[in-house]
Amino acid sequence: MTKAETLTITAILPKVTHGRGSYLWDTTGKQYIDGSGGPAVYCLGHAHPEVNAAITAQLGQIAHGYRYNFSTDALEELTEIIRAHTGGSLREMVYVTGGSEAVESCLKIALQYQTAIGQKSRRRFISRERSWHGNTLGALGVSGFAERTTAYEGAFIPSIKLSPANAYRPIEGATPETAGQACAAELETAILHHGADTIAAFIFEPVVGAAGGCVPAPDGYAKRIREICDRHGVLMIADEVMCGAGRTGPWRALARDGVEPDIMSVAKGLAGGYMPLGAAICTTRIWDAIRTKDGAFGTGHTFTGHTAACAAGVAVQNIIAREGLLARVTANESRLKSWLAEALHGVEAVGDIRGRGHFICTELVADRDSKQPFPAARQLALKIRAAAMQNGLICYPVSGNVDGTNGDIVILAPPYNCTDAELTEITDKTAVSIRQVLQSEGLA
Ligand code: PMP
Repeated sequence: MTKAETLTITAILPKVTHGRGSYLWDTTGKQYIDGSGGPAVYCLGHAHPEVNAAITAQLGQIAHGYRYNFSTDALEELTEIIRAHTGGSLREMVYVTGGSEAVESCLKIALQYQTAIGQKSRRRFISRERSWHGNTLGALGVSGFAERTTAYEGAFIPSIKLSPANAYRPIEGATPETAGQACAAELETAILHHGADTIAAFIFEPVVGAAGGCVPAPDGYAKRIREICDRHGVLMIADEVMCGAGRTGPWRALARDGVEPDIMSVAKGLAGGYMPLGAAICTTRIWDAIRTKDGAFGTGHTFTGHTAACAAGVAVQNIIAREGLLARVTANESRLKSWLAEALHGVEAVGDIRGRGHFICTELVADRDSKQPFPAARQLALKIRAAAMQNGLICYPVSGNVDGTNGDIVILAPPYNCTDAELTEITDKTAVSIRQVLQSEGLA
């Protein structure tokens, strides 16, 4: 266990009593504004009466229609809503209860497809360093997050790790402009080196979350990756657990890069945290091969398609559509960045303010030119989270990495229906908390 995780687990946490919209209260009556929607989950804030009513109504009928016995209205409605958003050929899905299960299902669908088309030697995955795909063994194995994976090494399915694709920290020899092409070239080299006939899929986060802080795919990266995957029969899996369901503006984050993956995961914002819900979604080409060979997806769980969770998903997605919230999230991207930049004006440690939609972060560095992070042992991001809590703000920290591959990062992921006043309260309190910690650490 890393020091940072020890701190997280042993810290004495306040007890939350209730939430309303963008605000939460604890047992002492203290109020917090939810600047990160918890871990980028609560896209409609808390205790939305319409979502609560939809769940209650569903529970009044039946909580869960078990998948081998029944379909349900809620499941079918949600499936049509998702199809309308994903467009193109991403039409088939397996419902699960969260992000790790969604990723796990994506990996299994890729393997089942490769087997179905007679490519059973394709068992390995390629993924990237500074990535987070979840806490189950399969998802953990493809994650590039040493702080969380080291204890389990040796027990993972085979996975090959590439460099992170980050325009702020381009790989050696690349510039911010060429970072995307350079990282894509790494993928092709790895496929050729290990043999295309051994690789089932490449998995990546279109906008990296917990492991790197709101890092969008550099320009041209996703298109190039798509071409390379196609050329070598390698499936492309987009992990949109954190960045999907409208968090970055479009419902699919990768839609902004003009690319359709073969398989994608979605979770956090799908039911907005009102119920545990996720999905692995694949194209008709993948599904047709699986259906022809096996008749059904081989993956699924007891709570697959949980009816009350699907009802929550339908309600959340209907509200987002009716209120035009995705357009608002898109429009707020530049405002959030400029409000943050204004509130942090003159703070030398601000290395980068980046992200998309309502998924924006500030990366702090010891030196702007070299982008050298502060020593990880200082635990700046965790201290900023603690200061923010004192100041009545929930934000999401990403700790500075011990090997210096990212600085301390503070992620904001406000609910999509935040008012302008709430958004400025969030950016102002973020800046105050960052300034306080830098000052108390003697760094400003
Ligand atoms: N993939 C990504 C991109 C994530 O951000 C996360 C969670 N932070 C997961 C997978 C795992 O999701 P969960 O915690 O719901 O299992």
